[in-house]
Amino acid sequence: MNVKTADYIGSFPKESSCPQVNNPEYAFVGRSNVGKSSLINALTGRKKLAKVSATPGKTQMINFFKINNMWHLVDLPGYGYAKISKTKRRQWERMIEDYMRFRKTLQVAFVLIDGSIPPQEIDLEFINKLGEYQVPLAIIFTKLDKVKGSKRKNSTAAFKEALLESWESLPDMFYTSSKKREGMAELQRYIHALNEQYYDLINP
Ligand code: GDP
Repeated sequence: MNVKTADYIGSFPKESSCPQVNNPEYAFVGRSNVGKSSLINALTGRKKLAKVSATPGKTQMINFFKINNMWHLVDLPGYGYAKISKTKRRQWERMIEDYMRFRKTLQVAFVLIDGSIPPQEIDLEFINKLGEYQVPLAIIFTKLDKVKGSKRKNSTAAFKEALLESWESLPDMFYTSSKKREGMAELQRYIHALNEQYYDLINP
């Protein structure tokens, strides 16, 4: 799948105000600083796409982009800001929970995990919560260029082991570096395959 067009649709404060259109949708979420903007830009081949979501007023919103006039890329606000107030945090949790549970067109929530650092409790908690809601999810390890070849396996294996403490089987996983553009073709193929399935189902 090549990205021919990538258009900003808008930013919405909650699930119930998101556009009600039948496009297959993929959400990207992770701890702030995990490399989400870089990944969205690398995946779409647009240098500044994710910048839109980082502009004032939009960082706490559900940001929508339409790719190839066919699918939605949804950039969700990151979690784990040290300085965030309790009220803001609760608002974030509510927004994400509603979005994940009720968004019918959501195909997969991609949870980004920094592959260059040890497993973080906050990421495991978040993934376990999505599991409780039975949200279809996949994991994207980011920043793998920071880990030298032989150590790569160890850094992602530690995360998998931590997950297997509460999960019976592992979700699909992608190994990426936005800096080196690694893993983008695999992600694009995955999304493409799910889009085909989606459209086959609604237009058999
Ligand atoms: P966001 O807060 O999750 O949107 O993260 P950003 O995309 O803004 O990236 C946070 C920091 O990590 C920035 O300093 C990026 O340059 C760096 N970063 C992001 N992706 C990569 C990557 O693939 N490799 C390396 N080495 N650094 C990265």
